Amino acid sequence: MSEEMELLIKLHKDGERQGPGSDAITRQALDIIGIDKNQKTKILDVGCGTGAQTITLAKNLNCAITAVDLFEPFLSKVSERFNDFNLRDKITTTACSMSEMPFNDEAFDLIWSEGAIYNIGFETGLKNWKRFAKMNGYIAVSEITWTTNSRPEEIESHWNNEYPCIGKASENIDIIEKLGYRFIGAFTLPEYCWEDMYYIPMEKRFSEFIKNNPGNRSMEIIKSEKKDIELYRKYKQYFSYVFYIMQKI
Ligand code: SAH
Repeated sequence: MSEEMELLIKLHKDGERQGPGSDAITRQALDIIGIDKNQKTKILDVGCGTGAQTITLAKNLNCAITAVDLFEPFLSKVSERFNDFNLRDKITTTACSMSEMPFNDEAFDLIWSEGAIYNIGFETGLKNWKRFAKMNGYIAVSEITWTTNSRPEEIESHWNNEYPCIGKASENIDIIEKLGYRFIGAFTLPEYCWEDMYYIPMEKRFSEFIKNNPGNRSMEIIKSEKKDIELYRKYKQYFSYVFYIMQKI
């Protein structure tokens, strides 16, 4: 693994979450689906990070969760958290890439992914993961999304550089329909999910991170995180995460 990747993992593994979201938002997406709690739900949580949403799912459902992430240090945190909450019989972790998951077809009732599908792209992810869902099963993913029809050049070019697949909600809903899913609902994450749940706690870890990992690479990482935060604060009307909920029919 590159030194930069190792440092990024160090910065993020002490976070409650590695992207915008909240306990209430995960439950809101769950409510839209309306899962029957009398039946055991088999869930695949893709790009789980340290497991913020995984814990919420486990607390609110009668379920067996398979949590996937590329990085083992995040999965260790997930296991620790499940132990702390006495939920260990609900979790299995698998370290693998979201583009090559070793599961059987139709193995899951529900596929969940918060702030992670961008790693392979919204359309590619939804296309590739479909086979893992049972017929009539659900998929819920959050994805960075433009919230207006046009936007200032600075933010447009930033995101087109970082993630050229970024689109409007209407375009993402088109993709969902084109892939043969039944579109169920979508909603935009409010600001507290970015600030209170993600950026502000991360900012509090910056000085400790630099102290423990002195050097230019660490400074570069912090600089880049600060740039993202600054752009969010300046242009937050124009983009957010949007939760998309669909059914395989
Ligand atoms: N769902 C978590 C983490 C989101 S951050 C949350 O909302 O807090 C994105 C996650 O995707 C990270 O944990 C990262 O390690 C993981 N990831 C990145 N590329 C991946 C890949 N190719 N396969 C699986 N996981 C990946």
